[in-house]
This record gives sequence, structure tokens and C-alpha cells, in this order.
Amino acid sequence: MRSLSSKIASKFRRGEALDAEELTHRRVAMVTEQIAGRGIRDRYLLQAMREVPRHEFLPKNARCHAYEDRPLSIGEGQTISQPYIVAAMIEPLGCGSDDHVLDIGTGSGYQAAILARLVRSVVSIEFRPSLAAQARKTLTRLGILNVTVLDGDGSDGAPIFSPYDAIVVAAGAPAVPPDLLSQLSKRGKMVVPVGTTDLQHLTFLRRSGQSLNEEVRESCVFVPLVGRQGWRHSGAK
Ligand code: SAH
Repeated sequence: MRSLSSKIASKFRRGEALDAEELTHRRVAMVTEQIAGRGIRDRYLLQAMREVPRHEFLPKNARCHAYEDRPLSIGEGQTISQPYIVAAMIEPLGCGSDDHVLDIGTGSGYQAAILARLVRSVVSIEFRPSLAAQARKTLTRLGILNVTVLDGDGSDGAPIFSPYDAIVVAAGAPAVPPDLLSQLSKRGKMVVPVGTTDLQHLTFLRRSGQSLNEEVRESCVFVPLVGRQGWRHSGAK
């Protein structure tokens, strides 16, 4: 039988036993170094990232890596995005506390949780049912009640809950999914990584009545957006 101290030591190695104080310390350092340090200025966004416990959105054995500067595996071949990319997508949208937002690619639910701190309500869609179920559990456990996680193909959006003040797509698309544009409010904004399955660029779209402004910004690498307006499951369209 293993001794108690060897059990504790192996828990430490897996990162399960990091105490709350240490995790908070790492999270605050992450925001200072990786987020504010790279030019993100929105104080509400910085505060949300200081408060939302990213480690809670990860499998237990990955929690010790929660505040590192990279995406991490969440199972099913999918990833939780690098924290900086979450901030770089959300800040330019300039979301307000009265906004209603669509988040496509729930994954772990972390990005939905950040958005939930900034806006009135979030609809989040996930293609893979097991990830959607896990994200629902995590959000409920953390008392985040203004996110509705839907199962399904988010490349079609969720017209029933539209219009949205902002749409955030957290998976790489071959092109801007046209159905999503029609679900934006009159002054709605959207961000979607567009490119190949290996490399995309964050593409920001801003609707102003009938006209649409498009701006292509930094490069990024997301898992593929699958589904009707995305890539086929195999990766190639
Ligand atoms: N925002 C997530 C990370 C997203 S990873 C987080 O904070 O953890 C991208 C996610 O998009 C994966 O979970 C993948 O299953 C999902 N996805 C891919 N195509 C999708 C589609 N058409 N509709 C909804 N979700 C999709």
C-alpha cells in the first residue's frame, strides 16, 4: 500500500494539489505578463481574466499548466485557447454589459465564462456533446448562470436567439460563415479565425446597418470549425 505522503507527492506532480493561493498567484501573474504585458488594456476584461479560474476548466491532470502561455488539450482532440488569444479576440469587440453574445465552439467553457463576466447573456454552441456536457457542469459549479450551452453545429449560428451584439468563433473556418452575419444586430461585431486548417488570421467584421467592415489581423492556429459552413470532419473541405 502506498503511504499517504507518496499519494500527496503524486497529486502534487499531477497538479491536483496546488493550493488556491498559488493558483490565484499564477493567474494574476498570467494577466500581468501575458495579457496586459502584450497590450490588452480593457480593465473589465483584465479583471475578468484575473477572476475566472482557468484551471477549473481543465482535466485534473492538466491543472498545473493552467496559467501557461499556450493552448492545452481538453480531450476529443480539442484545445482550450491560449489565454492571450481569448483576450485578443474579445477586446476589439468592445462588449458592453447589456450585450447578448454568441460564442461558437464552447470547448471547455472558459471563453464563455470570460464573456459572461462582461455581458448580459451568452449563447454558446458546441459540436461535441461530451465537451458541451462537461462545460455545462463546470459553469454551473462556478455559479455562472448567464451562459446557455447548446449542442450542435455552430457554423449555422443559433438564429432562434438572434440578433447578437457580438459573435465570437473559437475555431478556424475556411471562410466567414455567411449565416452568422445575418444573425448580427445592426451594429453587431464578429471575430472569426479564417484560413487553412494549419494557419488562420483573426478576421474582425463590424456591421453598420447594411454595410460591413472587415479587418484582418494577427495570425493564429485554431482547431478546425467543422459542420455545414466549416470543414469536413476529416479536416479537408
Ligand atoms: N472556446 C473554447 C476553446 C475552443 S476549441 C474554450 O474556451 O475552451 C474549439 C471548439 O470548437 C472545440 O471544442 C470544437 O469541438 C468546437 N467546434 C468545432 N466546430 C464546431 C461547430 N461547427 N459548432 C460548434 N462547435 C464547434
